[in-house]
Amino acid sequence: MTPIQCITILGSTGSIGTSTLDVMSRHPERFRLHALTASSQVELMLAQCARFMPEVAVMAQETAGRLLAERVRAEGLSVQVRWGVAALDEVACAPDVDAVMAAIVGAAGLSPCIAAARAGKRLLLANKEALVVGGDVFMSAVREGGGTLLPIDSEHSAIFQSLPDDPTSWQRRVQKIILTASGGPFRTRDPMTLKQVTPEQACLHPNWVMGRKISVDSATMMNKALEVIEAHYLFGMSPDQLDVVIHPQSVIHSMVQYRDHSVVAQLGTPDMRVPIAYGLSWPERIESGAAALDFQALSAMTFEAMDDPGHLRRFPGIQLAWETLRGTPGSCAVLNAANEVAVDAFLNRRIRFDQIHDVNRSTLDRTCFAEPVSLDGLLALDANSRAEARQSILRLHG
Ligand code: NAD
Ligand code: MG
Repeated sequence: MTPIQCITILGSTGSIGTSTLDVMSRHPERFRLHALTASSQVELMLAQCARFMPEVAVMAQETAGRLLAERVRAEGLSVQVRWGVAALDEVACAPDVDAVMAAIVGAAGLSPCIAAARAGKRLLLANKEALVVGGDVFMSAVREGGGTLLPIDSEHSAIFQSLPDDPTSWQRRVQKIILTASGGPFRTRDPMTLKQVTPEQACLHPNWVMGRKISVDSATMMNKALEVIEAHYLFGMSPDQLDVVIHPQSVIHSMVQYRDHSVVAQLGTPDMRVPIAYGLSWPERIESGAAALDFQALSAMTFEAMDDPGHLRRFPGIQLAWETLRGTPGSCAVLNAANEVAVDAFLNRRIRFDQIHDVNRSTLDRTCFAEPVSLDGLLALDANSRAEARQSILRLHG
C-alpha cells in the first residue's frame, strides 16, 4: 500500500492550486492536506476549507486572514486560520508535511519555496518566478535539504520525463533541450498593432486557461524567457544548450535531443492536471482527469523558428533569457522583478502592451547590483529592481 502523503498547497485558490485539489480529490486514499494558502480570496478559501478540510488555512494578507477566521468560526469548521508571510514559510516546512505544491505567482513564493527546500520536502514547483529569482541560492537550498525538486511547468515536466533517471548522466548524454512554445494569442499578429492590445485580449490564450499574470507572459512570450531560465537551473544546461521552437498546437510539451541526435519528447493534451498528477505521484503514475490525446483528431503538428524576424519583432523579450543567463548573476532576478511590475501596470492599464518590454529592458540597463548570495540579498535585489521598474514606468509617462 502507498503511504499517505501529507500536502501543503501554496496558492490553492489559483489555476494550478485548484487543479491540484482536483487531482488530489480523485485519490483520497493517497493524499491528506496540511495547509491551503492564498493571498486575499476569502470566499474561495472558505469554500475550499469546507470541502477539503485542511488542518490550516493561511491568508497572506492580514485583513483577509481575520475575515476568514470569522467566517470559519461562523461555519463551525475545524480549520486553524493564520495570516502573514511568516505563516506561509511555516506551513511549507511543517514537520508533518511530505510535499509542497508551490503555486503562488511571482517572487512572493520564493521564501516559502526556500523554507520547503531547506526542510527537505518534496517540492512541486509551478512557481517558476521563485526559481528565476532564486537561481543558485534556491538550488543550494534543495541540495542542503536533500529533498526532491519536481517541475510542474508542463515544459519542464516533459523534459524531466524525457531525461534519463540518473541526473549525473544528463550532461554526458544530452546535447540540448528544446522547449516548445505555443506562441500565445499574438503569434500571427502584425507587430505594429501590438500597441493596441488590451488586457482582455492578452489574457485569452488559445490552448491553456491560466492566471492573469502568466497569461500576459504567454502573450509577450516572457513566459518562455522565464522557462528557459527555469530549465537552466533545473537541469544544469548551459544557455547554448537551451532552444525554443514554436509549436502552436501544444501537443509536444518539450523535447530532449541526445548526443546521437535521437530526440525524446513528451506529448499530451494541454491540461495541467497531467504534470500535476505526475509530480504528486512520481515515480508512479495516477489518473489525472485529463482527456487522452486523440491522434485521429490531430490533423497536424507544426513548428516555426523562434528567430524568424517577424517573431523577434513580436516577441523581443524572449532574447532576454539568454542575455540575463550570460550576464552578471542576479540579472535574472532583476528581469523577473521588472516583468512583474510591468505586467501589473499593463493589467491596470497604466502602460501599453508593447511597453512591457521597454520597462524590462530599461530596468535591466539601469539596476546596479552585486551578486546576491542569500535569500535576504535576493529579496533586496527584487525590491530595488521593482523600484527601478516603477521609475521606468514614470519616465514612459513623462
Ligand atoms: P493564479 O493567479 O491563478 O494563482 C496564484 C495563487 O497565488 C493564488 O492562490 C493567489 O491567492 C496566490 N498569491 C498571489 N499573490 C500572492 C502573494 N503575494 N502572496 C501569497 N500568495 C499569493 O496563478 P496560476 O496561473 O495558478 O500560476 C501560479 C504559478 O504557476 C505561476 O508562477 C505560474 O507561472 C505557474 N504556472 C501556471 C500554469 C497554469 O496553467 N496556470 C502553468 C505553468 C506554470
Ligand atoms: Mg509552461
